[in-house]
Amino acid sequence: MAEILVLGAGMVGVSTGLALQARGHQVTIVERGSPGRETSYGNAGLIQTEAVEPYAMPLSPWVLAQIALGRGYDVRWNIPGLMSQVGAVLSYARNSLPSAHRRATITWGKLIRQSTERHAPLVQAAGADNLIRRDGYIEIHRTPKAMAKARIAAKRFLDEFGVEAKLMDGAELRGLEPAIKVEVEGATHWRDAWACSDPGGLVAAYANLFEKQGGRIVNGDAGDLHRDGNGWRADDYTGEHAVIALGPWSPMLLARYGLNVPMVYKRGYHRHYHMETPPNHPIADFGNSVVLSPMRRGLRIATAAELTSHPRLAPPQLRHGEEAARELFDIGAPVEAEPWTGRRPCMPDMLPVIGKVPDQPNLWAHFGHGHQGFTLGPVTAEILADEIDGGEGWAALQPARLKH
Ligand SMILES: Cc1cc2nc3c(=O)[nH]c(=O)nc-3n(C[C@H](O)[C@H](O)[C@H](O)COP(=O)(O)OP(=O)(O)OC[C@H]3O[C@@H](n4cnc5c(N)ncnc54)[C@H](O)[C@@H]3O)c2cc1C
Repeated sequence: MAEILVLGAGMVGVSTGLALQARGHQVTIVERGSPGRETSYGNAGLIQTEAVEPYAMPLSPWVLAQIALGRGYDVRWNIPGLMSQVGAVLSYARNSLPSAHRRATITWGKLIRQSTERHAPLVQAAGADNLIRRDGYIEIHRTPKAMAKARIAAKRFLDEFGVEAKLMDGAELRGLEPAIKVEVEGATHWRDAWACSDPGGLVAAYANLFEKQGGRIVNGDAGDLHRDGNGWRADDYTGEHAVIALGPWSPMLLARYGLNVPMVYKRGYHRHYHMETPPNHPIADFGNSVVLSPMRRGLRIATAAELTSHPRLAPPQLRHGEEAARELFDIGAPVEAEPWTGRRPCMPDMLPVIGKVPDQPNLWAHFGHGHQGFTLGPVTAEILADEIDGGEGWAALQPARLKH
């Protein structure tokens, strides 16, 4: 059994700690803040077994023209934000072509389908059942055209992947979600997914479980990671192995160890709003590029992607999302003075990076989960733990693919 340092206590790092601990290793997690307070705090809280295809970049000329002109709310950008990651963005575009996307989907789908079964024992052992609902989320379709597309998508998901979804008309939707106050054409109920009412709270509960079982979480800066004999040292802590699970901060550290990681940083925002009668499920209003999740703190409005180097104080995507949400529901004032913001750590080939860092004995990578790291943390933690214990790992996920 080994002493292992895990750098970062987001969903991915904490899940790594738990998976290694279950195999008998002595694990120390080094975190500069508190567990689950960064990207793993700010997401929409969905544990998405239905998300069997990774999130491709839209490539239709019309959509690209809209994005270029700064119209629509799915992808926003500014010049410094785009230029700082242009190589990674172009590579993401190439990998979004149908044949490459199909290849990524084969691996991605195998990961995602394990997600609820990997979370289930952790939720139970952590006593976090009160944070989880197991009855899916609802994607609304405001127009007949959107509803027709949804029918095709639902059939394709069933035929190709065996993912079941229930299509509803406006009346059925109102039965399920009486708080919706306008006529909506219909909806898709993705029933397999789970919803978490406090994503940061779930990571904190997993972190408590890890400590109760003998793991250590220490405050420290992983940025000064360096070799220590055959092993590694970060701050005052040492281990035979070290795992980099720093989410969007991982590439910065790996650059020091000879691995150039081309990440696309898709910034998202959220804000909570007071609400007397919240919806019963998270409501995805993709036509307006937002997910509206009932959370402990209020209704969380979470936005799509922004390629910017610095966050905006008044993000247009959030302003638009709030307008769309107010059409649907009676919503009160914002809970926080300012919106939260964070960056999805997205790899251009849409697959997370899991395995041995090339040329660096006993250094391991575990990051790049993009749009679904909250879902996938416990799944990929198991794959990495097995590889550290001598297993083969998954070839398609290896960091060696980044080395040219
Ligand atoms: C708006 C939005 C909505 C999303 N919705 C969903 C969703 O519904 N479902 C889903 O599955 N995913 C969702 N995601 C994606 C998901 O949140 C991320 O993929 C996931 O949280 C990444 O987890 P992580 O542990 O890799 O990173 P993080 O949670 O960011 O953890 C990294 C940790 O490293 C620490 N750290 C960084 N630098 C140092 C250092 N030098 N020293 C020590 N510690 C350090 C940080 O403090 C942090 O705690 C969403 C993301 C966004 C932004």
